[in-house]
Order: sequence, then structure tokens, then C-alpha cells
Amino acid sequence: MSRAADIAAGLERTHKRVAEACAAAGRDRSELTIIVITKTYPATDVAILSDLGVRDIGENRDQEAAAKAAECAGLPVRWHFVGQLQTNKANSVARYASVVHSVDRPRLVRALDRAAGNEGRRLDCLVQVSLDGAPGRGGVMADGVSEIAGMIADAASLRLAGVMAVAPLEAEPGPAFAELARISGWLRKEHPEATWISAGMSADMEAAIAHGATHLRVGSAILGKRPYPG
Ligand SMILES: *Cc1c(COP(=O)(O)O)cnc(C)c1O
Repeated sequence: MSRAADIAAGLERTHKRVAEACAAAGRDRSELTIIVITKTYPATDVAILSDLGVRDIGENRDQEAAAKAAECAGLPVRWHFVGQLQTNKANSVARYASVVHSVDRPRLVRALDRAAGNEGRRLDCLVQVSLDGAPGRGGVMADGVSEIAGMIADAASLRLAGVMAVAPLEAEPGPAFAELARISGWLRKEHPEATWISAGMSADMEAAIAHGATHLRVGSAILGKRPYPG
């Protein structure tokens, strides 16, 4: 099978899973956006995805993302940065990304605001929440979400879009995503515009949909098992 046919099949399988999970959860399919995570895969795959109608592409490493976004200039896609982000990469990310899912500390808010301002752009930002407190995977603990969200909301060149989380490695995703939905609920009382819940990957999208996810970050289910760890 050609690469395009492979990707089309992966995309179709994923759309079917999402539709079934929405039906099971009593949710409208239009509430869900699939972001295709293309890390480790080439720009030619992004072009295929774009031809298939995908408009949201995600990456988790700046170096790879910056190069790929440059190669894909002219394609009608939006770039989402979903990985842990060093402050010194903020300038680069602000050039190509429309959305940063992984904002988890005050220094990063300030760096992104400055960088987006320099580019004359406005960046959508999600507060990444750590659901298990595991070090090294990014995210702020629940009791720190309000502070980061407030800083984003007050930043001239950022827009607060909502929350993001990665399910814990060693636990059922359902309860973790339920906790994220609870956090999103009280955050929206302070910031009604913060409606996004970015949760759910290839292995756990059904649980995320059951618990209110609005944005899924799906890589391997569409593009295949990665040749090396992303
Ligand atoms: C790689 C990655 C994904 C996609 O993972 P799959 O299991 O391939 O669907 C989602 N979110 C983040 C933050 C990632 O790094």
C-alpha cells in the first residue's frame, strides 16, 4: 500500500473510534478535534495529511518541528506544540506554532508572551496539568493551575485556551481524565474562555472522550508505530 493509502486508512480508523466513543458518551462528534502528532515522521506525511483534510498538526520537539513547519510552509495547517518546552526555545516556537499545549511555569509564560509579541502574533496557550506529579513529564500540579492561567490570561500576546494533560503511566486513564475535567470546570468559572481540554492519545482516546476531552493528540494510531521513541 502507498504511504498515502496507509495514512488514509489510519485516519479513517481513528475517525471511527472517535465517532463510536462519542456515541457511547452521548457527545456530539463536532465537539472533538483531532490533532495529528507527526513527531519522528517526515514533512511528506504532513503534506499527505493536509491533502486528506487534516488542519491540526502537533509536534513535541522544537528542532524537529521548526524544520518541518518550514518545509510545510504554504500548507493550510496549524501547528500545535505539545512537548516539554525550554524557555530558550520560546522564540523559535512563537514563529510557527499557533497553539502551545505545555505551558506549566511562570517563566515560560513570560518567555512566550515576549516571543509572540516580537513576532506580532497571538499564541493560544493551554496549562499543562500534572495528574500524577511524576517528575520529568511536565505539567503543574492542580494547586498551581490558577496562577499560570491568570498569567496567560493577562499576557498581551497570549490567549488562554484551556488545559492539557498526559495520562499517568502506571494508572488507569479514566480517573485521571475525570480529575482534569474537574480542574477544567473550576478554571472555566474564573476564565470562561478556557474551554479546551487537550487529553487522549492513541491508547486512551476513548477514556478522554468519556471525560470531556475537546482535543485529542493522536500519533501512532494514524501514522503507525514510531521507528524510534518520540
Ligand atoms: C507523542 C505524543 C502524543 C501522541 O502519542 P501517540 O501514542 O502516538 O498517539 C500525544 N501527546 C504528546 C504530548 C506526545 O508527546
